[in-house]
Amino acid sequence: MADLTIETVACLQDNYAYLVHDAGFCAVVDPSEPEPVAAALAARGLKLTHILNTHHHWDHTGGNKALKSSFGAVVVGPEKDRDRIPGIDVGVEETREWRIGTRAVRILEVPAHTKGAIAFVFDGAVFTGDTLFAMGCGRLFEGSPAMMHASLTKLMALPDRTAVYCGHEYTLNNGRFALTLEPGNNDLRSRMKEVEAARAAGCPTVPSSIGLEKRTNPFVRTGSAEIRATLKMDKADAVEVFAEIRHRKDSF
Ligand code: ZN
Ligand code: FE
Repeated sequence: MADLTIETVACLQDNYAYLVHDAGFCAVVDPSEPEPVAAALAARGLKLTHILNTHHHWDHTGGNKALKSSFGAVVVGPEKDRDRIPGIDVGVEETREWRIGTRAVRILEVPAHTKGAIAFVFDGAVFTGDTLFAMGCGRLFEGSPAMMHASLTKLMALPDRTAVYCGHEYTLNNGRFALTLEPGNNDLRSRMKEVEAARAAGCPTVPSSIGLEKRTNPFVRTGSAEIRATLKMDKADAVEVFAEIRHRKDSF
């Protein structure tokens, strides 16, 4: 199998689209706007074949129609949200195998930020949209705490080395919030030094990895004794702890 190349394309204020390509295809994940994506393609001499959407929000699909008409690209998104994905051609589901070129791509259904949210799992990389962020998770616009907890747990079952490409550069603020819950987490403190340096230099903090998220993301660390002590929730179940973390983050 030809090597997969993944490149970050900054869009809008803090969105990321990603070019994903090998010899057989060239896809963009979550193009919020067409111009930066078209410029990145032109700079590399690439022709777009597919547009992949993790969920229906405009800041992930706003470039669909213009890019589709410029390149004739195939728009791929969650079958369960077909009605809300502009220009959709192919609806994908977790239970059905889907291939891009000759490459098998796993679809994980990860509802809660939106009901139809999906993640695309390539060999060694997952595109998580607004479900899992570096040290954070998306807001619960269309789902419950239990639903998001289950979606994050599904993502955490991927191999630790899997690279995580998320939909926004929210890492610095997410990390500051994480430190309010778990100031004694040394992995978190050292990660924050790296994140601060990267942002000061104007560099993206993506990709993360599943292993790094397990060590530093409070939303998947509901078992942490320190987080539970901070929240005074020693005996609560995981979903209750998750709900309290999400609640606090909503007003952080
Ligand atoms: Zn969103
Ligand atoms: Fe978004």
